[in-house]
Amino acid sequence: MTKIASQSITTGVPLPSDDRRSKNPIVCYEVSQLPAFDAKLYQQAKDTMQKVGEVVVPPRDGGYFEVPAGHFFRIVSVEGPQVGDLNLWNAHNLNERFFSGKTRQLHASHLTTGDRLWSNMPFLRPMATITQDTLDWYGWDEDGAGVHDVIGTRCDPYTNHMLKGVDYNHCCHSNLTRAFAKVKGLSLDGSEPHIHDVMNVFMCTGFTHDTHKYFMKASPVRPGDFIEFFAEIDILGALSTCPGGDCGSGHSDDIKPCYPLLVEIFKPAEGSLKHWSEAKRSGYNGQHKANTE
Ligand SMILES: [Zn+2]
Repeated sequence: MTKIASQSITTGVPLPSDDRRSKNPIVCYEVSQLPAFDAKLYQQAKDTMQKVGEVVVPPRDGGYFEVPAGHFFRIVSVEGPQVGDLNLWNAHNLNERFFSGKTRQLHASHLTTGDRLWSNMPFLRPMATITQDTLDWYGWDEDGAGVHDVIGTRCDPYTNHMLKGVDYNHCCHSNLTRAFAKVKGLSLDGSEPHIHDVMNVFMCTGFTHDTHKYFMKASPVRPGDFIEFFAEIDILGALSTCPGGDCGSGHSDDIKPCYPLLVEIFKPAEGSLKHWSEAKRSGYNGQHKANTE
C-alpha cells in the first residue's frame, strides 16, 4: 500500500467543474467476445423437450428444484400476478452460486432472453441461459422500470425489523432459508449463510429519475406468463413467492394478495444438443500474484 504523507490541514480542494462532469460514459464490460446466444441451438432442443417434473411453490413460501445440465426449466405464473425470488447453486458444490452483481454488470439491471446467470468467483461461468421470456415486450416503461431485475437483494426480516420494529417470518430471505434447509437437511442457522442475492423474477423495478432510489411497481405478469432457462451446469434452485405478491403496494407482511408459482422442468431428446457442452469454470490461474516489477 502506498503511504501518503499526513497533512494537518486539507487545502486546495478543486472547485465543482462542468468539464469534469462532461465525459462520455462507456460500458464497463465488452461482452462481444463471449459466445453469442445461439437461439437456433436451444430452439432445436426445445422442439424435442418433454416435461419431466414440476414443483408448486405455495404463496409466501419457498420451494426447491434440481435441473440437470442440458435441461430447461420454466417459472410460470399461475392463478395471479406474483413475483419470485430465485437462488441457484451448483448441485455438486454449494460454494458455487448465482452472482447477481456480476450478472448485472455483464448484462444489465434487468434480464431477458439471451442473458446468462453467472456464478461467483472463482468459478464465474454461466449457470443458466434465459431462452424465453414472455414479458420481453415490456422493455423499459416511462418510469424507467423493467422486469426481472438483478438489483434488489431480497426482502428480509432484518431490514423489516429495523424499519418497522416487527418480526415477520415469510420474507423471501426466510422462505429461501427454509427451502434450502429442507433440501440439504440443514438447520435454519446452517442454511442461512447459503442464501444469496437473487434474480427478482417477474418483478418490475427501476430507479427514480430524480433521486435514483430503488422503486417497484405492480408486476405486469399474468397467469400463463413464464420465463424459461437452460441449465448450463447441474443446478439446485430455490424459489420464494414474495409476500409482496405483485409488489405493487408493499412487501414483508400478510396483507397483499399472493399466489403460487409453478416450476416446470423439461428434458430435450438425446442428440438434440449436438454442439453444446457444459459451461467450464474460469480459466484464470488463480495465483493473484502481486506485480513484482
Ligand atoms: Zn420478497
